[in-house]
Amino acid sequence: MDNGLKTGELEPDVAAAHEAFVRRLHGVQARIAQALADAGREATAVQLLAVSKTFNAAAVRELAGCGQRAFGENYVQEALDKQQALCDLPLEWHFIGPIQSNKTRAIAENFSWVHSIDRQKVAERLSAQRPAHLPPLQVCIELNVSGEATKGGVAIAELPALADALSMLPGLQLRGLMAIPAPATDPAIQRAAFRQVRTALESLIARGYALDTLSMGMSADLEAAILEGATIVRVGTALFGERNTHE
Ligand SMILES: *Cc1c(COP(=O)(O)O)cnc(C)c1O
Repeated sequence: MDNGLKTGELEPDVAAAHEAFVRRLHGVQARIAQALADAGREATAVQLLAVSKTFNAAAVRELAGCGQRAFGENYVQEALDKQQALCDLPLEWHFIGPIQSNKTRAIAENFSWVHSIDRQKVAERLSAQRPAHLPPLQVCIELNVSGEATKGGVAIAELPALADALSMLPGLQLRGLMAIPAPATDPAIQRAAFRQVRTALESLIARGYALDTLSMGMSADLEAAILEGATIVRVGTALFGERNTHE
């Protein structure tokens, strides 16, 4: 595997850090490839979104140097700082965290994708604030599949109305659904939650929407998500290591 670097030219600890990123990225790519093979899906059917929240710009640069292009962030100011430090790289930024109304302009101006839309008001602001010289913001509606009132995401019963409203907004292109099911260790339970998301996507498609995105699956459950049709997996820990800040 030629990554363009001769490790002999680097300081030993720099080389070791780089090797660790290469090893973790290849490990995640292998897990994705195996799950796709098990599902009988095409090898290119899943995009890896590297979730870089709490990790610094140097870590993102390291992973970008291994060939990773798409990065997901949860906190607006933290993301803007990293984007500025990395503006020499051709990266694609996805916003995946809870959206406060007063942060919509910064999101509309600085991201390609938003996965976490669960309110019409936020969608309207993002659309109105999307700069005209940029393509429409690519968006997913976040679906609450675990039914926990404290969690983000729209209830399945409210999904058709929100999708109808979003599809009228010129600054947004609705691509599909995102979900963060409650953590479970039993693969059957993981798959049941992801299956609900896929079923909800299929019912929107049956309403006439052209949707192609299921953003689901993280470090601990990406196999189950891929078996249920995920097209984007959002992976943090398995790429960057453990986060030491509390969320
Ligand atoms: C942090 C986060 C992830 C990544 O989680 P890991 O378990 O570290 O892979 C994915 N999606 C969202 C919305 C997150 O907040």
